[in-house]
Amino acid sequence: MENKNFCLFCGSSSLTILFDKTREKTNSKISRCVNCDIVFIWPQSDKDLDLKEYYQDSPSLSNYNEKRFLKRLNRVKIFKNFPSFLRKLFLRRIVFPEGKQKVLDIGCGPGMYLALLKEAGWQVQGLEINAKEVEHGRSFGLDIFHGKLEEANFPSDYFDYIRIVQVIEHLSSPSRIFEEMERVLKPGGIIYLETPNVNSWAFGYFKENWLSVGGHIFGFSNDSLGFLCERYGLRLKRIKSRAAKGVIQDALKYALRDKSLFLKLVTKNKAINFFVVRVMRLFLALIGKGDSLIAFIEKDS
Ligand SMILES: [Zn+2]
Repeated sequence: MENKNFCLFCGSSSLTILFDKTREKTNSKISRCVNCDIVFIWPQSDKDLDLKEYYQDSPSLSNYNEKRFLKRLNRVKIFKNFPSFLRKLFLRRIVFPEGKQKVLDIGCGPGMYLALLKEAGWQVQGLEINAKEVEHGRSFGLDIFHGKLEEANFPSDYFDYIRIVQVIEHLSSPSRIFEEMERVLKPGGIIYLETPNVNSWAFGYFKENWLSVGGHIFGFSNDSLGFLCERYGLRLKRIKSRAAKGVIQDALKYALRDKSLFLKLVTKNKAINFFVVRVMRLFLALIGKGDSLIAFIEKDS
């Protein structure tokens, strides 16, 4: 694969090269487009570009916590028949938003989130590229399509809600999936999207070591997601960032190399670690520099 001197997404030739190496010490460059603000890692190997090949035979990729899942499922079972305001209060963080509609989870893994929604009364459909995850999910009685969205041929204006978490950064063409999501989403429907945030403190801190070249092709910001939505007639309704505990802890461990006494205290002492990580998570989310972007995207009715 040769180097490209134009943006893989919008075609602009105004690029800033952020890093001329990657974590894996390949000769790929990490560039940022001046026009649409998308970040991309290029060149990529043919294998990494072919999602099916990349994920086909890999073992289960999900890191879902079974204990936490069962706790949540139990909570849904208890509160699902409660009056609406109580249901909202107790289930808001688990099965957003109010249900009994059609939902599609793209890259659903073994379908744990769908299982919660199904229990709450939603009509659920999953889509997953990893065969082992599909098998796992189907064993729970979930309807999971094995393949890419553009191969599933869902009807137009069909889903009320699409969930796509940590997926678009791995695709060789985010345009194609946006076009297809717009088609299968009902007018007034919502896309819930999560993806790494290239304006994050973590990217600034870890630099070229933040995103691995294998599998990660794109990185997004508020601006590039807005650009993508606008191109496909979707509206970026709300966007925020979230900082994961693990990323901050990793950063602190990494910083230990500096051998500062303060950092040693932070990483070794559990109470101080808890406090520092908590404060950093809140602060980074507040200033939009958390490592993940969470976007609510709407199709106009
Ligand atoms: Zn661009």
